[in-house]
Amino acid sequence: MSTIFSKIIAGEIPSDQVYSDDRCIAFRDINPTAPVHILVIPRQEIAQLGHMTEDHEGLVGHLMRVAGIVARQEGYEDFRVIINNGAGAGQTVFHLHLHVVAGRTLSWPPG
Ligand code: 5GP
Repeated sequence: MSTIFSKIIAGEIPSDQVYSDDRCIAFRDINPTAPVHILVIPRQEIAQLGHMTEDHEGLVGHLMRVAGIVARQEGYEDFRVIINNGAGAGQTVFHLHLHVVAGRTLSWPPG
């Protein structure tokens, strides 16, 4: 099922895009939790990490690499990547996305 992120990919809803290639895009989260809060999403619709198949391994590896690219682009070597999988884990948009968070002290364990 399509989500608001499919509309962002299609350009039907505006976003503050910071990266784009043939497999994914990255844009600033509308409700940032840190000075840098970017979402990296595949162009392909995959609802959540737990629905990944072997066929997606290359794509998800690419998303991880792009997380590092956008963090560095923002001037940060230290950053956190978060994937919420399922409503009980805080997922609200069911199109796989990596949160890339940086620019403040990040405590551990997360909430
Ligand atoms: P989740 O809770 O599913 O892990 O993360 C979804 C994220 O998408 C949230 O951090 C939320 O702020 C962000 N988000 C939801 N709708 C939009 C939107 O229309 N534009 C942007 N840029 N971010 C959105």
